[in-house]
Formats: sequence, C-alpha cells, structure tokens
Amino acid sequence: MPLHWKKGLCGICPAGCWVEVGSENGVIEDIRADPDHMLGTICRRGLHAPEIVYSEHRLRSPLRRRGPKGSFEFEPISWQEAYEVVAERLFDIRERSGPEAVAIYTGRGAQEQSLCDMFQPQGIAISSASNVLFPFGSPNTMGVGALCYVSLHMIAPDVTMGRMQMNMFADIEHAEMVLVWGTNPATDSPPVDMERLEAAAGRGTRIVVIDPRRTDTVDRARARWVPIRPGTDGALALAMLQVMLEEDLYDENFADSWCQGFAELATYVEHFRPEVAEAITGVPAATIRELAVSLAKADGASLLMYTGLEYSNSGVQSARAVYTLFALAGHLDVPGGIGLTMRGSQFPINRSCNLANPALNRALARQDFPIYSEYRGESHAIGILDSVLRGHPYRLAGLIIQ
Ligand code: SF4
Repeated sequence: MPLHWKKGLCGICPAGCWVEVGSENGVIEDIRADPDHMLGTICRRGLHAPEIVYSEHRLRSPLRRRGPKGSFEFEPISWQEAYEVVAERLFDIRERSGPEAVAIYTGRGAQEQSLCDMFQPQGIAISSASNVLFPFGSPNTMGVGALCYVSLHMIAPDVTMGRMQMNMFADIEHAEMVLVWGTNPATDSPPVDMERLEAAAGRGTRIVVIDPRRTDTVDRARARWVPIRPGTDGALALAMLQVMLEEDLYDENFADSWCQGFAELATYVEHFRPEVAEAITGVPAATIRELAVSLAKADGASLLMYTGLEYSNSGVQSARAVYTLFALAGHLDVPGGIGLTMRGSQFPINRSCNLANPALNRALARQDFPIYSEYRGESHAIGILDSVLRGHPYRLAGLIIQ
C-alpha cells in the first residue's frame, strides 16, 4: 500500500525544517525533506523522528517517584493526579516562601517555535522562556538563553547595529567569501546552512572556517581551516580590524556616515597588532594579515557565526568586534554580505496572549545581568546556583524543568 504523504514542519527541534511525512493507517513510516520548499531539508535527528515518536522509552503518562531519590523507582499516575500534586506543592511553597521561590527552566527542545511565540514574556523580541508562572506571581522564568543565542543574536547585534539576528541574513548565495566563525553547520541546526555552504563551494566561493576544531564543515565545504584558541575570537577580529585600518582597506564612506566612536575604535585596535594577537589567539600573524586583506577586498563576504563565540566570558564583545569588522570591511547590508531585512517585513505573529513578567526587578541574577534580564524579561539561569547554595538573594524552593 503506498504511503500517504503530507507536508509539515519537523517538530524535533525549533529549526523548523520543511518535511514530508509518509504514513500508513495513521502511523508514521517515513520522513523526508520537502523538495518544494527553500527550507526543505532534514538532518539525522529528523530522519529518526518516527523512532522518537514511537520509542518504547517515550513517557506516555506522568511518573511519580516512590523510592528514595536516586533509586529511579517511579509509578505512573494520571494527568489529573499529577496536576493536583504539582499545584498543591507550588501553593504550599508560595504560602511559606512567596511566589518567587518557584522557578521554571526551559530547554531548547522544550517547545517548538509556535509554543515559544505563545508562552514568551510580553514585549520580548524572541524567547524560549515560559511565562506559565507569571499568573502565579513568580518572575523566575529562565532557560538556555543564558548560555546561547541571547548574547550573540540579540544583544550584540542590537547594541552594534540596532538589529537582531532575526532581522538579518547571510547572503551566502552572492558572496565571494564566507567566514564560518565558531559554528559547525555540518552538525548544527538548521542543516540548510550546510547545504548552502556546499553549493557555495561548488560555485568557487572562498570559505574559511575559524574554529578550534577541524570540523566536518571544513571538508564538506572544502574550506580553509583557521584554528584558534577558544575564547579569543574577539582578539582576532580586532587584529583584523587593525590591519584593515592601518592598510587603509576599510570602507571610509561607511565609517563617516554610519559610525559612532570610529576614532576611539581606531585608537583601541592599535594595541591589537597581528603579532600581539598571535600570542593571544594562536593564529599566526601572517594568517591574520592575509585574512584581513582578503576580507576587505572580497566582492561580498558573508558570515555564519554562533556559539563558539558566546560560550566564553566575553561573548557579546567578541561578536560586536566581528560585526564591526564586517561593517567596516564594507559587507553590511550589501549583496553577498550580512543582509538586513526591511523593517516590518516579518510574518505577523499574534502574541496578544503573552503575559508580562509580574516582578522583573525581583528576578534572580537581575542585579548581575541587568541587560540580559531587560532584553528577555526573565532571570539569568546562573542565579539558580547562588539561590540554592547560598540563599542569595533568596532561596528557591521549587524548580520546574521543562
Ligand atoms: S534541524 Fe533536524 S531535528 Fe531540527 S527541525 Fe530540522 S530536521 Fe528536525
């Protein structure tokens, strides 16, 4: 019997790849990339979606621990019973310690994009945090944004260029050169970026991978690999800027028309001569000079960049340095460069159901991460440690992990 094929979005992670699902008698038998859509692609995890959906290990009802912690003894209970137990515990904590003593932590895979849109805090550009505890009175929603995405894709581009990643795109298709900086599209989502890189390599686009590891992307994109010491990407970007300014290769018109603090930047990067940066980054000075010159002379250079830069103690500033480098090299908002979408050109999303954080000034770690907290309307997850271990600024008594 032929399979019944239906188009849809893969729901295994939030990348939103367009797929076709083949089923027989309502049971998924096969899944493949949608050949008719530009985002039609599928990664290995997506290919295994039927196994995930029908796994014998998949939880099909709530489980309640009945043995001591660590004994892994659980018993199935009904959803109604689970709701009652959870609600009773939460109200008990609120009674004893106040609503902020309960927090929720959401992971990247917890909600696919439409649920993120529905449950994110009100007035926030984009978030995977959940607002379910807001009516309860707790400001403490937090999640993986503390680790990734927010510093690189929200704060850094917004404070540098007034745009966030959701309003930018890499125009790889028209680029003469592509820098793949701190990301590995061969394994990261969305997989469509790897396919775009392979196509670019086929057209003869120069691709450079800056990464401490020689990743699969290097081979699949026939790229030049520039190994770098982890956490030193900002120094490399500043050194490339230093070369561009010293050799007068930067876009003067852009600097005059669109930059604030250009003179201060020029003074600042004087310190980052390639020989100095070599000692910091491990990238040879000659390579730094060569990269800077080829980037400045490229007829369109595009950028793929992700967690390699932000999993460090200077993620925002490193990303800002890279964006500034591309802008002064003349690759911002031009064909083949970092594209900026027209304002108001996004598909409108009804977010009227979003709720505002009821007490953001009481959110955990807000004092230490005020900018993060402001951008996201949430707590910073690192605050859990101080709260649980030291009771600072107050002690959490309940944590929902989703
Ligand atoms: S990256 Fe993979 S798991 Fe995520 S949506 Fe795409 S196909 Fe599914």
